[in-house]
Amino acid sequence: MAASCASTRSLRKACWSGRVSRGRLRASSIGRLRESRCFPNCWPDRQSGLPSFRSSRTIARFFSGARSVAYWSALRAGGWLPASDRPLVLCYHAIEDQSDDPVLAPYGVPPTLFANQLDWLIRHGFSFVTPDQFAAYIGSNAPLPRRPVLLTFDDGYADLIGVARDVLRPRGIEALAFVVTGSKSGTNEWDQAYGAKKINLLSAEERIDLAALGVEIGSHSRTHREMPLLDGPEQLEDAAGSAADLAAQRLPRPRFFAYPFGFSDKGSKDAVRNAGYSASFGCRSDWVERGGDVFDLPRVIILASDRGWRFSTKVRAPRLFANMTWLHQGIRNRLRQLGRRRPWH
Ligand SMILES: [Zn+2]
Repeated sequence: MAASCASTRSLRKACWSGRVSRGRLRASSIGRLRESRCFPNCWPDRQSGLPSFRSSRTIARFFSGARSVAYWSALRAGGWLPASDRPLVLCYHAIEDQSDDPVLAPYGVPPTLFANQLDWLIRHGFSFVTPDQFAAYIGSNAPLPRRPVLLTFDDGYADLIGVARDVLRPRGIEALAFVVTGSKSGTNEWDQAYGAKKINLLSAEERIDLAALGVEIGSHSRTHREMPLLDGPEQLEDAAGSAADLAAQRLPRPRFFAYPFGFSDKGSKDAVRNAGYSASFGCRSDWVERGGDVFDLPRVIILASDRGWRFSTKVRAPRLFANMTWLHQGIRNRLRQLGRRRPWH
């Protein structure tokens, strides 16, 4: 069979090069294909002259596939697909254009882009869930609406008050903000150590106002240090101390904790659990799965560069996006290595 197909290919090549006429190619190809049984059941019926597809598996599969596509499309259009119960947790930082900041530029999402992203999610069938709904989901497997999304904001920048009032509240969206309680200057001291500009954090009064606007206050530690680098008592101090700070500021005791820089280890997870939190978040790009570790919940970080297809891929396929990023990074590093070895210019 392979030999016949190969010789048909060589004849076709000869036709393209003008050495054999098209008619000869057709006659010869059909003859060879008949011999080779490449398409055993698709030849015209001798009496009727019509094609006889009665036993062609390929054709049957084609129509069966087309019928399945039509079936599932109609079901989807009618809203009958089973609801997804994998929540997506998005992690934003400042909702502000920080393109002039040498450190924070990638993290500052301009307000217009942020509002457009929320509207895109609403248009594409995502449902914003409240921190209460999320707590019930991880605590007692409570059901969630279709395509659930929880919004979170790290670091507790002062701009969040305006965002909650002008962008979230008009859309009826509740969210979760993780604040650092031990900054003496009331600014992002941990970023300034790396050369970032000074940005004001929410004051104690503003945190209360924010909670009244539907943004629950969680803890992002007292000092924003990487918890795996701390010893046991320091880890507990950051987890339990920040909860005590918030309670002392007339706020409800925090239920959720976000690890600074997204890093955690067994010791830090134990410290957060022992400090009485219900759950904690890292920065692994993935959906939250039922039965997963509630003290290492994934979140998808949204950056200023997440526009168009980047944003839609991140929220529709966060795991795939993370793998694509790793692959892209790996290829770029490899090309850099090759470039260093053999300069091209
Ligand atoms: Zn942070």
